[in-house]
Amino acid sequence: MSSNLNFENTDTILNEDRLFPPKSELVENANIMAYMKSKGFTDYDAFHKWSIENRFEFWEDMAKELHWFKPWEKTFEWTNKPFFRWFVGGQFNIVYNCLDRHMETPVRQKVAFYWEGDNGETRTLTYEDLYKLTNRLAKGLQNLGVKKGDRVAIYMPAIPEQVAALLAVARLGAVHTVIFGGFAASALRERINDAGAKVVITADGNYRGGKHIKLKEITDEALEDTPTIEKVVVVKRLSNDVPMQAGRDIYLDELLADIPEDTVVPCEPMDSEDLLYILYTSGSTGKPKGVVHVHGGHAVGLYMTTRFVFDIKPEDVYWCTADIGWVTGHSYIVYGPLMNGATSVLFESTPYYPNPDRFWSVVEKFKVSIFYSSPTAIRGLMRFGEEWPAKHDLSSLRLLGSVGEPINPEAWIWYRKNIGHNELPIVDTWWQTETGMILISPTVILPLKPGSATKPMPTIEADIVDKNGNPVDATKGGFLIIRHPWPAQMRTIYRDPARYETYWDTIPGVYFAGDAATRDKDGYFRVQGRVDDVIKVSGHRLGSMEIESCLVSHPAVAEAAAIGKPDPLKGEHVKVFVTVKEGFEANDALANELKQHVRSTVGPLATPDELEFRPTLPKTRSGKIMRRVLRAQELGEPVGDTSTLDA
Ligand code: ATP
Ligand code: MG
Repeated sequence: MSSNLNFENTDTILNEDRLFPPKSELVENANIMAYMKSKGFTDYDAFHKWSIENRFEFWEDMAKELHWFKPWEKTFEWTNKPFFRWFVGGQFNIVYNCLDRHMETPVRQKVAFYWEGDNGETRTLTYEDLYKLTNRLAKGLQNLGVKKGDRVAIYMPAIPEQVAALLAVARLGAVHTVIFGGFAASALRERINDAGAKVVITADGNYRGGKHIKLKEITDEALEDTPTIEKVVVVKRLSNDVPMQAGRDIYLDELLADIPEDTVVPCEPMDSEDLLYILYTSGSTGKPKGVVHVHGGHAVGLYMTTRFVFDIKPEDVYWCTADIGWVTGHSYIVYGPLMNGATSVLFESTPYYPNPDRFWSVVEKFKVSIFYSSPTAIRGLMRFGEEWPAKHDLSSLRLLGSVGEPINPEAWIWYRKNIGHNELPIVDTWWQTETGMILISPTVILPLKPGSATKPMPTIEADIVDKNGNPVDATKGGFLIIRHPWPAQMRTIYRDPARYETYWDTIPGVYFAGDAATRDKDGYFRVQGRVDDVIKVSGHRLGSMEIESCLVSHPAVAEAAAIGKPDPLKGEHVKVFVTVKEGFEANDALANELKQHVRSTVGPLATPDELEFRPTLPKTRSGKIMRRVLRAQELGEPVGDTSTLDA
């Protein structure tokens, strides 16, 4: 995060000025518009200004829509900077708001999840079903000795029991740490040990994209050196034979065998600031950090953003394609949608299995109306062509979303054209594991610009500054910072508060987590990538995003990564790595054409000196391009932490 702190002006050469205004009926019926009108606004900018001046009124309004065992005494406290507290003195449990509250309303009988397994098998769970499963699982965990404050590791496939596991742990006031089911034993072990988990919940394996994942065997390997683990709960996903260690391992079936269907384990009343979970970041820029989120304020932020960004209505079928192992899954598969009483899809497979139209067949099958995915998935699917989505009836869709990386304008346009019937809005949501909730994103009322996450959410004071925190010409770019805490923000890095403080003192007094961005004359933000990925050529600064987006706009290119390499004359020169789409040949002629394409579209400075074709690019398991790995390989330097590398 520190190497490029001398951030001068980024040469923003990519001029993307297409504007897509929203349809008036969407605007009129938008959830956020109803709230804005209640405060006397119809214009978002005016409302946003009000929300900054009245941030506590705004958050109190949101918090009041949730259930509190005991109301808070003080909305916000920031005496021990940079640590802060929200809804001080309140008693709350996020799970009460996800489940119990709905048992008194018609939501009880509503579908909570349509689940689709790897091979197309399905299950449907109502809110009542999920409530029952969660309560029984909570009871089972209680019987194993799990209590408030204990840490429980969850290493599972995307099955309904996984959702119930998070909810059961949180119900008891214990702390979950979810580890993506594709991680290796060493990554699992490291996280279990950092969190000091007492129990791990796993499965006897699963198939993902047709590939057998031996979760139990991997867990056993991880547990060879995890002194804190006492019990292992194993869900039968495949019902195959796996090694079970007597005294330590127990099947979920056995754990629940004597627990009646109607068992209720009351939600533990938690202090607003008590821990809900620890989640390790993606590791795109370095060693993963154990980000800590709490019950109270965190829930309020997720409730609000799910309702306003995705504009969820009672009849919607919502699908976030992320894995629950990432923050997107925590916030926008589990907690946000459940608090809003939404019907969601939970998906165990991959976009490419058995064919690259799997997403679209699921959309068609469950009549999905809101679809939230990632640039890496969209770019990956683009390479197979438009004929795959065209095979399916996607008319149920009304809103699309994107998260994880900057979405290249070309991918944005493809997404809108082929998935969004050329008319649907795309909410490009910028946020981080640390931010807990979406911070910069359109709501359905804003005109859109491809590749721009548009404007900050209510109360969020985002700005573009230099390394000292001084304002810069935002159209040319700088550091993306946030000035004031919001309720869903991380409270610390687990067992490493000093590391937490670096988020607040790298640029004194403001929150900074390492992204570079521009803001145009209309106030639209455009994330250019990590500060560390900015390339300095002859005194000019180029965002990796600009060069990559230009390459991706060429018909032959599927994905691209741009890095800077030391250069005796220019300081740095550009090297790009390119994967080509099906049916194109990677050869010298194409390489030259692509270099020229960058030269003529982005500018002579950005012209790559080197271009290398690769069959794949190094990515995190969540699909983010790891430019630091490419850079280290190029320079023959150690690659650092690669526990999250998708090898
Ligand atoms: P680490 O912090 O360990 O290096 P990471 O930053 O990839 O990993 P996450 O919290 O999963 O971990 O990702 C947050 C980052 O993802 C943001 O800082 C930003 O760089 C990128 N990002 C997420 N959504 C968007 C978006 N809509 N537009 C641009 N960038 C995005
Ligand atoms: Mg990060």
